[in-house]
Amino acid sequence: MGKIFIIDVTNRDGVQTANLGLSKLEKTMINIYLNEMGVFQSEFGFPTTKHESHYLKANLELAMIGVLQPIRLGGWIRATVGDVEQTFKLIPEIKHLNISISTSDQMIQGKFRGKKTKDDILKTMVDALDAARSLGAENIGVNAEDASRTDLDFLIEFASAAKLHGADRFRYCDTLGYDNPFTIYDTIKAIAENVGMPIEIHCHGDLGMAVATSIGGAKGAVDGGQDAYINTTVNGIGERAGNADLVATVLAVLKSKSFAEKYQLGQPIDLSKSFKIAKFASYAFGVPVPINQTGVGANAFAHASGIHADGVLKDPHNYELYSYEELGRGEPEFVDTGREICSGEYGGVSGFRHIMGKMEVSFVDAKEAERVLELVRYANVCAQKPLVEDELLFIAKYPDIARKLLTLTPLD
Ligand SMILES: [Zn+2]
Repeated sequence: MGKIFIIDVTNRDGVQTANLGLSKLEKTMINIYLNEMGVFQSEFGFPTTKHESHYLKANLELAMIGVLQPIRLGGWIRATVGDVEQTFKLIPEIKHLNISISTSDQMIQGKFRGKKTKDDILKTMVDALDAARSLGAENIGVNAEDASRTDLDFLIEFASAAKLHGADRFRYCDTLGYDNPFTIYDTIKAIAENVGMPIEIHCHGDLGMAVATSIGGAKGAVDGGQDAYINTTVNGIGERAGNADLVATVLAVLKSKSFAEKYQLGQPIDLSKSFKIAKFASYAFGVPVPINQTGVGANAFAHASGIHADGVLKDPHNYELYSYEELGRGEPEFVDTGREICSGEYGGVSGFRHIMGKMEVSFVDAKEAERVLELVRYANVCAQKPLVEDELLFIAKYPDIARKLLTLTPLD
């Protein structure tokens, strides 16, 4: 029986969203929180993009020293030999990659403008895949962009070629959110049965169904005898109408009617971190969590009407499908309504020592405090808002890695 795994793509699809972005430290914190939750893989960035280099290397270093373990850190690139070579030139230590190319007739005509045939697409992908393997990639996913508008025969041919050349997974991208749970189920099941390799399901919310199609696709993979890897983002942040929300997707797998009895996660997800990661992503992106967001919205456990309030007080199961404690909610939060000292790019040592002292962090001497403060100033330059406690603690604990993360030197 195949299992369901989560690959979170907040640090790739999330950050490439129009009007939104994350600092390199914020991306690092997302990786840390995803790891704490038990997410299988974080698609942590773009190895061919030069301003990502220091961040990617610093996070791979965090993996090496055990901080980002057991989560896998995977890069996203186009499926071309050029991108593969650039990746291993800039980030030789990278181990996991997804390589992507469009497969639909729409893209072949509308984007490649007749300059690429289907055979060219297969050859480009296979050459990139072979190059990635020979340069040292350990795990490679091959992405069919716009798969939901690609005919099934070509998807099977494409995935079979990827499998023949040693790809570990095939990523089915419902790039435009065109599928529904029924169509994606049929398509993914057919690919799983005909190709026989693990399948990633990457869905968007243009028709409001990103989580539903993800679950439908995962069911198709498992029924077809394969493992499913659902792509999610924190708070569903992603291109246009967004991606499948991480917390909602895991809840749907675990809590929807008769699903978890047959379709199970391959490794446990600690949902008690849900509220924390949702709140952090909201703050970091500067996008409020909608009041009605699944599990983490302000109204997710709020009851006003007489019948519901009475019912939930008698037995929460009357009107709640799962408990707020499961999602890490219910702890009181303290908000300073008086004087506030916060971190900033022009901060000084006295305020900084006050902030760190509140978190019971002390420094051996003034020199060490000044050194960490300097890094905090740089982090503030990038974030343009006060750092959260976990970010300050991270910098204090790993100043050398923070220095690398925060280094943004334009490269040649
Ligand atoms: Zn996407």
